[in-house]
Amino acid sequence: MMRFVVATQNMDKLEEMDRLLRPIGIEPVTLSMAGVDFSDVEETGSTFEENASIKARAAFERSGKPSIGDDSGLAVDALDGAPGIYSARYAGPDATDLDRIHKLLDNMKGVPEDKRTARFVCSISCVLDKDTEIIVTGTCEGSIAYEPKGEGGFGYDPVFLLPDGRSFAQLTDGQKDAVSHRGEAMKLLKQRLSKYFNDKK
Ligand code: IMP
Repeated sequence: MMRFVVATQNMDKLEEMDRLLRPIGIEPVTLSMAGVDFSDVEETGSTFEENASIKARAAFERSGKPSIGDDSGLAVDALDGAPGIYSARYAGPDATDLDRIHKLLDNMKGVPEDKRTARFVCSISCVLDKDTEIIVTGTCEGSIAYEPKGEGGFGYDPVFLLPDGRSFAQLTDGQKDAVSHRGEAMKLLKQRLSKYFNDKK
């Protein structure tokens, strides 16, 4: 198993990464497991790609190990792409998932069904050495529900509906991985990493 540092403190994300990376021989470890202090790293980018890259580069510089950074969020068309890169901070620094969901539903009041389109976006950067960075982006198209439904998942999952009407929070982990933005980005990253390691042989 190769150890890659994942620049996140979010255990839900680490678990998803672990499920998706283990099959290709990569064991993701957290910043604290790698002894990396990340408290001063700021997400100053203006796109998901830039923020993913900032995190992966900082983790690589500080750990000396291959590092992965990701940035993800929900882009809602009726809100001109908000909350976008601000998804985690949408309702302020101390807010909960539920606070963010309520703020989103408030801002979507009166928006008719056909205008509620949205997508989850996930960019992942993987810095393998000082000259090699792979960046991929996955998206998942859907729409914003009128009220939360489902018990699973995290974040905005209960209000994000797939075209078949199920919310992300109603899917099993496996079902979500198969269609999600993060699942797609991870699939692309896996392909790129496999090619990189094959070419090096
Ligand atoms: P990040 O940690 O800066 O990437 O922030 C991502 C934020 O976007 C999370 O805190 C969630 O609010 C939201 N988000 C990203 N991916 C998902 C998902 O798969 N389900 C629900 N919310 C998500």
